[in-house]
Amino acid sequence: VPFDLLVTGASEVLTCDGPAQGTAEARLGAVRRGVVGVSQGRVAFVGTDPPRDGVGPGTRLLDAGGGFVGPGFVDCHTHLVFAGDRAEEFERRCRGESYLQIAAEGGGIQRSLEATSAATEDALVALALPRLARLLAQGVTTAEVKSGYGGTVEAELRCLRAVRRLAALQPVTLVGTVLALHAVPVAYRERRQAWIEAVRDELLPAVCREGLARFCDAYVEQAAFSPEEATPVLTQARRLGLEIRLHVDQLTAGGGAELAARLGARSADHLEQISPAGVAALRAAGTRAVLLPTSTLFGRVRPYAPGRALLDAGVPVALATNLNPGTSMSENVFLALGLGCLENGLTPAEAYLGFTRTAGEVLGVPGLGRLTVGGPADLVVYRADSYRQLPYHFAMSDVAEVLKAGRRCS
Ligand SMILES: [Zn+2]
Repeated sequence: VPFDLLVTGASEVLTCDGPAQGTAEARLGAVRRGVVGVSQGRVAFVGTDPPRDGVGPGTRLLDAGGGFVGPGFVDCHTHLVFAGDRAEEFERRCRGESYLQIAAEGGGIQRSLEATSAATEDALVALALPRLARLLAQGVTTAEVKSGYGGTVEAELRCLRAVRRLAALQPVTLVGTVLALHAVPVAYRERRQAWIEAVRDELLPAVCREGLARFCDAYVEQAAFSPEEATPVLTQARRLGLEIRLHVDQLTAGGGAELAARLGARSADHLEQISPAGVAALRAAGTRAVLLPTSTLFGRVRPYAPGRALLDAGVPVALATNLNPGTSMSENVFLALGLGCLENGLTPAEAYLGFTRTAGEVLGVPGLGRLTVGGPADLVVYRADSYRQLPYHFAMSDVAEVLKAGRRCS
């Protein structure tokens, strides 16, 4: 049967489906001068010699023009549904004020909670659409989206319903995560336990009834929630069928990675301050690390997460944008790839895998972040002839074409 589409003229096709035990370069699964056949939105062929009957009168041809072809990016950690912006706070930080000082005066994350809780679902959708368009233009074809700026059970549900509507309005596949333990809402400041119980007993069951999320996340940090506060919520989430993601060890080493390992989390995210014991715990539990270097840059907190040490210990490492209004106001995938190499210590191949194959594993969807026969034809054609150009030509896009389920998006 002829293909609907045949992508030709590529320097190489990276399937990201090489052997799991191989080097990063081997895992890229490069096919020199490969072609990709697409039928009914799925990859029907990857290799150098397409079947003779693969090209018929109805087959469209897409010439990669000597660029390389790879799977669509998977942005496995974003907070892209929010209202309001924090440009004023950014300016104050540039003038030398500390985040803690700004937060103490009611700024910081509380500003985002106020604006988001006051926004309608329509407004949240309208604000998020251009952010998704920017991600798509850079080759992101799947993104995880967290709630966490609602501040009430109803507003958290509204954010997740907005994610569901957004999924139907544009090409990027979206995966919802309920992150109600993000910040203690102002109304609950004197009774934080009441917020934790509302999340556990009202919000999580409602999220599951409506099928609004696949993951439950929590911000475990001195300035947010303790392991003791988060554990009952996460345990309940697991009981309801959600998998666990965690924001841990960002500003202080608080045993967050160990908690993620103990709870069998799919990933431990941030990890700027992870301890050697935390690295060992992730390794032993098979928990993946998600590094968010653009937020380390933007938040002006140091150090960057020890990506090299994590990989050397055998912990799979993914990268993501962490798009959010407070600590990473950027959809720039290529900045994250560049920082992943320059500051987290990854090689270009490791960084590329971190935004494709390993990110797909974090989201737990078989074949996601890879180009495999039978899998979705989510792929990117680059002007650059090698993945090595992406972190090197940092913070710039060399994307020529993005295809979602075989359809051109650009
Ligand atoms: Zn985050």
